[in-house]
Amino acid sequence: MFRATWMIAAAFLLLTALTSAQTSSTTASSMASAATSAPAFDVNAAVETYLAKMSPAQRARSTAYFEGGYWLTLWDFLASAVVMWLLLQFGWSARMRNLSERITRFRPLQTALYWVQFILVTSILTFPLTIYEGYFREHKYGLLNQTFGAWMKDQVVGLAVSVVLGAILVVPLFGLVRKLGRSWWVAGAVLMIAFLAFVSLIAPVYIFPLFNTYTKLDDATVRDPILSMARANGIPAKDVYEFDASRQSNRVSANVSGFAQTLRISLNDNLLKRCTLPEIETTMGHEMGHYVLNHAYKGVVMMGVVMVIGFAFVNWGISFALARWGQRWGVQGIGDVAVLPLAVIVFSGYFFLMTPVNNTITRTMEYEADMYGLNSARQPDGEANVDLLLGEYRKMDPGSMEELIFFDHPSGRTRITAAMRWKAEHPETASPAEMARPFQSAQ
Ligand SMILES: [Zn+2]
Repeated sequence: MFRATWMIAAAFLLLTALTSAQTSSTTASSMASAATSAPAFDVNAAVETYLAKMSPAQRARSTAYFEGGYWLTLWDFLASAVVMWLLLQFGWSARMRNLSERITRFRPLQTALYWVQFILVTSILTFPLTIYEGYFREHKYGLLNQTFGAWMKDQVVGLAVSVVLGAILVVPLFGLVRKLGRSWWVAGAVLMIAFLAFVSLIAPVYIFPLFNTYTKLDDATVRDPILSMARANGIPAKDVYEFDASRQSNRVSANVSGFAQTLRISLNDNLLKRCTLPEIETTMGHEMGHYVLNHAYKGVVMMGVVMVIGFAFVNWGISFALARWGQRWGVQGIGDVAVLPLAVIVFSGYFFLMTPVNNTITRTMEYEADMYGLNSARQPDGEANVDLLLGEYRKMDPGSMEELIFFDHPSGRTRITAAMRWKAEHPETASPAEMARPFQSAQ
């Protein structure tokens, strides 16, 4: 297991070295050269003008923050693998199962009780890394507004959500494994997809409000243009919601979340405070793009493919490891809930290796939503300014391989290039006021 871990670590190091050696302007210039029909407007020069609104110091800071995140992907995986190995090697997993079996004879409840112990123990053991990553590091870069107490409260609420949602997934999953044996993985992936759809249905109404307060947006000067765009784009929303993201950070964001009865358009108070109407409109156009282009459903289908392969891999990995060390760990088979730490090691290893694939799935949809936002809001300069704000925590100007591997959204350069390319074809939409607006960092 450790040899495999080191091989993955070495591959990761190699990748990082390769990507940082990439030149940064290749994607942008090749994309810009495709837009040649408006000679009066120089796309590349406009992109550079926007990028230069951010000072070198501001850009260095966001680059350092974002590149640190590459390493955290690795440390998170390794830390979790070590914790899971401890649970197996010292027989803790088997003991947690024995305790559950002493408390009740009802199997689904045994699984749920094991899950509660498992999530508590693993959360405590990985907590030092969680504090560094979620609290100290965020404060160091000026990205968190919370005191330790308020942050801790969010962590506890998050843990409670994991206990409940995890039990809803793990109990039927182990039921399936016990019924179907070795061929559990196809049905297991279907169950996983159904679970993800269920969570995205209930999240806007039952989960998000646990962390933030949602109120109806009353300001007609902002609400009415958004609702007009929603109507024009066939989105059945009657209200716009505002939520107090400034509780946690200064990051701007918005979403069109849920579906059917839980569909809602929400934007955060940072977006309202820090952005002009054209900037808000282009952001909402992007979010409406996700909705109209059915990104939630497409995402579920594509993640479904990733899951099926992942579960097949987990199935193989568990058989392999249990044949060798099952007895020592006190794990009786694939249907024994004490196998969970092993399943997590194999599954998170698979997801770690799939990082570029998963990022490319989301980044591609985000780029589509950018195109939709430009076409619906028609605010290319507002879009470029919002892309700069997002550059507070996302590297603006990566190499093309680096963007492919590590970026779950397009980089600032890619997005601003797309906006300026669109503007070159629609010169009448140019906004001198937006172009003149300086980049104001919240930090
Ligand atoms: Zn998006």
